[in-house]
Amino acid sequence: MPKINVLPKEISELIAAGEVVERPASVIKELIENSIDAGSKNIEIEIRNGGITYMRVTDDGCGIANADVPLAFLRHATSKISKQDDLDAIATLGFRGEALAAVSSVAKVELFTKTREEAFGTHYVIEGSCEVLFDEQGCNDGTTIVIRDLFFNTPARMKFLKKDTQEGNQVAAIIDRIAISHPEISFKFIRDRKNVLTTSGDGNLKNAVYSVMGREFSNSLIPLSYENNGIKVEGLICKPVNCKPSRNYQFTYLNGRYVRSGTVMAAVEQAYKNSAMVGKFPAFVLNITIPFETVDVNVHPAKTEVRFSDERKVFEAVYPAVKNALSVGDSRPEIKIKHNDFNPYKRMTIEEYRQAILPVTQKIDSVLDEPKKVQTPIKEDNDIVIARQDPPHEDKVIIVPKLPTTEPTPVFTVEQEKQEKIIAEIEEEVILVGEAFKTYIVVQKGNSIFLIDKHAAHERIIYNDLKKNLKSGIQQLLVPETVTLTKDEYTSILLNADLLNENDFEVEDFGNGTIIIRAVPSCLVGCDLASLMSEIASKLSSGSALQIDKLDNLYHTVACKSAIKAGYLTSDLEKLNLAKKVLADKDVMYCPHGRPVAFEIKRSELERQFGRLQ
Ligand code: ADP
Ligand code: MG
Repeated sequence: MPKINVLPKEISELIAAGEVVERPASVIKELIENSIDAGSKNIEIEIRNGGITYMRVTDDGCGIANADVPLAFLRHATSKISKQDDLDAIATLGFRGEALAAVSSVAKVELFTKTREEAFGTHYVIEGSCEVLFDEQGCNDGTTIVIRDLFFNTPARMKFLKKDTQEGNQVAAIIDRIAISHPEISFKFIRDRKNVLTTSGDGNLKNAVYSVMGREFSNSLIPLSYENNGIKVEGLICKPVNCKPSRNYQFTYLNGRYVRSGTVMAAVEQAYKNSAMVGKFPAFVLNITIPFETVDVNVHPAKTEVRFSDERKVFEAVYPAVKNALSVGDSRPEIKIKHNDFNPYKRMTIEEYRQAILPVTQKIDSVLDEPKKVQTPIKEDNDIVIARQDPPHEDKVIIVPKLPTTEPTPVFTVEQEKQEKIIAEIEEEVILVGEAFKTYIVVQKGNSIFLIDKHAAHERIIYNDLKKNLKSGIQQLLVPETVTLTKDEYTSILLNADLLNENDFEVEDFGNGTIIIRAVPSCLVGCDLASLMSEIASKLSSGSALQIDKLDNLYHTVACKSAIKAGYLTSDLEKLNLAKKVLADKDVMYCPHGRPVAFEIKRSELERQFGRLQ
């Protein structure tokens, strides 16, 4: 039996460090969390080479008292837990008193720190767990910690690091997550000497999101706030049209901590179902507050995946929160026409007019200034008066605009315009303007014009009716139709015969891969039943085993097949009725595949374009 050795301190530190310090991003996360715990208002982060050679975090928090500095780098040294009662905090917030010890065992660490009470600050250097310098130094209140040459003493771990850019991107992602969850703190991030992020720290979540995700995104956000089962859900979600091609814009925080939860993701995506385009994912920032004592949360301090002891409760809080916010906050997408600044018909102010003709007057001046050419062309027309001025230069003639004695009568008087507006406001009735490309119905309602995709709209209306069980009724076929299907399709139809029968289809086995259809929902009379059946079959077999999803697929197919098609002729009455339905029902916003049903153009937008409104 080999002799048992107690590992030297440096080795045990190294082993422990493996858990906390995986890569630059994990170091940055620990350092920023320390700065936040220290009550900082401003936190500046700088990295070079993806953080591998250089990382710096500077804060204006409480600082560490001189005598405590060496302790902060010992394992299990923490100012955040002192008694057993505080142990809950270990599981929930990850206070383990390990981060600084771990980092200093695998890197070169330099610390400058000063508390408000102390006259002098501290300069401390520790490399690979060995103290190199411990001195007093004048510095600002707060803490600056610089980490150089990560894994300089553990080349094996160095090899696991990815390229600088990838490591840098992970650091950036961590900073984004933290910045969004702390709008009250101003973050500044400098990457390879370039300032790449600054948040205002004004406490407004929207502003923090704006800094991190950009304007286009933050302008389309819907706020939400909801509570169920003692679980509070707050935050911002994007409109269905602004869904993203990836899940990178999904931020979930549990009691202030960034987490990933399959349940939360599923609940949000379920709420967007049938409004978001297929293949796109909702973007959101959700702050979920759960009392730790009522819901067991299993989360490893270094990992982000989270499990709840009762996942259903969480689903029941998040799903309605998002669903409600979408039904209240979503509006039809609006077409904003790019405004053309040059407007030849714009009426100028007198000053603008003077400015506009200035180049002309100067040109004429210079011509007139040439002595021989002076012809004193005193001429008067409607627009310009040429007058002699300035006694010392008798010959100099300048041109000044003739100021209109009375304002020219505008095409529309203010009174007329006001009246028009009043009339338009009263006219909430839907008026059919026409149809473009046999596809888009154009209607006017109130102060807006709507462009409606007739197929998408009709499809959604039928789909909603089917879901509400307002079925169109069953229609027996005069001549039952037989349809031969592929083997898979055939089995799937037979397996789902009950579901089909409940939904006004009468379908039976005709043997040998053929089915016989005796009745269909009346809205489907006249459809190509063979292709409809094979489509239904493939949807039913490819979908999940859930009955509800199958039904949904069935409704999708039926709605799509029975809806009027783009390119087909539609009567004026049909168009008008369709438009009325679309505009009266907030639930007809997207087709079942998530394409928008209608776009709105506001009258004010047109007026701005035509220069009637400045
Ligand atoms: P923990 O955060 O779990 O307590 P750390 O190793 O991260 O453990 O930090 C050890 C201690 O050092 C903290 O408890 C805190 O007292 C002190 N500390 C670390 N960073 C800062 C900072 N930026 N400002 C003030 N105190 C700090
Ligand atoms: Mg810490």
